[in-house]
Amino acid sequence: MSKVIVIGAGLAGSLLAINLAKRGMSVDVYESRGDMRLEGVAAGRSINLALSDRGIAALREVGMDEYMLAEAVPMTGRMIHSISGETKLLPYSGREGEYINSVSRGGLNIALINEAERYPNVKFHFNERCVDLDCKTGEARFSTGKSVTGDTVIATDGAGSAVRQAMMNGGVERFDYSQSWLEAGYKELHIPPADGGGFLLEKNALHIWPRHQFMMIALPNFDGSFTCTLFLAHKSSPSSEGAVDGASADGRVLSSEASFDALVDEAAVTDFFNREFPDAVPLMPTLIDDFFANPTGNLGTIKCFPWNAGGRALLLGDSAHAVVPFYGQGMNCSFEDVRVLNSLLPEPGARATGSKFDWERVFVEYGQLRKINTDAIADMAEENFYEMRDAVADPVFVRKRELETKLEQTYPDYFSKYSMVTFREDLPYSVAKEKGNVQDKLLMDICSRVSSVAELDMDAVYRSVLEIK
Ligand SMILES: Cc1cc2nc3c(=O)[nH]c(=O)nc-3n(C[C@H](O)[C@H](O)[C@H](O)COP(=O)(O)OP(=O)(O)OC[C@H]3O[C@@H](n4cnc5c(N)ncnc54)[C@H](O)[C@@H]3O)c2cc1C
Repeated sequence: MSKVIVIGAGLAGSLLAINLAKRGMSVDVYESRGDMRLEGVAAGRSINLALSDRGIAALREVGMDEYMLAEAVPMTGRMIHSISGETKLLPYSGREGEYINSVSRGGLNIALINEAERYPNVKFHFNERCVDLDCKTGEARFSTGKSVTGDTVIATDGAGSAVRQAMMNGGVERFDYSQSWLEAGYKELHIPPADGGGFLLEKNALHIWPRHQFMMIALPNFDGSFTCTLFLAHKSSPSSEGAVDGASADGRVLSSEASFDALVDEAAVTDFFNREFPDAVPLMPTLIDDFFANPTGNLGTIKCFPWNAGGRALLLGDSAHAVVPFYGQGMNCSFEDVRVLNSLLPEPGARATGSKFDWERVFVEYGQLRKINTDAIADMAEENFYEMRDAVADPVFVRKRELETKLEQTYPDYFSKYSMVTFREDLPYSVAKEKGNVQDKLLMDICSRVSSVAELDMDAVYRSVLEIK
């Protein structure tokens, strides 16, 4: 039986443990935090997440999709909130049954740990922070002084991965690494359920307040509450310092100097929210307390390669490729990682041959399959920040979304870029990116030349989409 050390019992690590256990491997999972089932979920991580088809496909393989979806809130589109309080729903797809799902991070993680623990060949070790990995011997060392060795180590220790650090510190030759931070950070806020239960905003939507320089979003929770996330610059941009606020295309005054740094006291926060999100403020009775109690998180993209240290260790999930959250794909992509790796592992009976399993061959093949796709979703996620922040408030973009919805309703084999990324688990991210970008450019161009989608000849538009394939 192969013995695998998994570092990190987050979303990817717990799902991976189930898959390895099903293959008959012996799995030890080391997690730096305490057991969240006993100690609660640590603050500072997103409370809920958008689960879509790639993630669902991975959960289905371990029989957990229906269980998780039973406690998810479907989100059928983006509900755009204008400054004057008007709302407009932009559906995610023109097809029935294509929507994303708001799930609880803690609930999902706990369900995966519980499921993994049902296998006698899986053991979780909490409060064990990995501090180093010897890439030559595969020995993982922990802050408690413990050190362990297995047949291989799979690092699912997230964006700040200690194992990646060890690979970078000479453990892996010619290790490529890049990290780029967005100037925006994020803070989570809260809209409670209605008195007596129910939702204070439309339940089945991802709400967006796009304000060009920044935005707020809100995802529904199963209990009727919403988790809001404010994405805002950490610091006001040097070029805007002392400048008079500009005007946006829709004539609205831009708060170009808005930043977390400027929101230092209750008056500043109240003034900012009343000005920018007036329809949300009455729904947020704990706004001030939440704002000052909750941490401000950083958002960045990490790319690195190779992920494999001679078959002795592999990076998987955010440890290999942290992405910004604007496509709602970080977890979905990490789950897809697990699915792809699983497809390369031997069937349980194969261990009976007695020959040692060739981890290096599997890890090399896995990297070849995945790198191009994780790079693609990282790039698309950054681009989507600007789409959510700016474009959803742009009339040409709104027309393009209407056109895409109509195309999807009329032509079953038409998929928008968003749909290719979100609802096509059979399509690699790299293909979605390549096809989607060309398609987006064409449709934006078409929509910039009309004032309403009704003016367009749908068959002619569809033919021009087919021509670019
Ligand atoms: C604000 C925000 C919103 C997001 N929204 C979405 C969304 O809607 N949809 C989506 O698909 N994705 C979303 N994501 C991305 C998603 O959270 C990540 O992609 C996902 O959590 C990655 O899973 P992971 O298991 O690789 O890492 P993590 O979930 O970060 O898990 C890593 C685990 O390793 C542990 N650990 C860390 N260091 C060590 C160590 N040295 N030793 C031992 N254990 C360690 C940690 O405690 C943790 O349990 C969002 C991210 C953010 C920040």
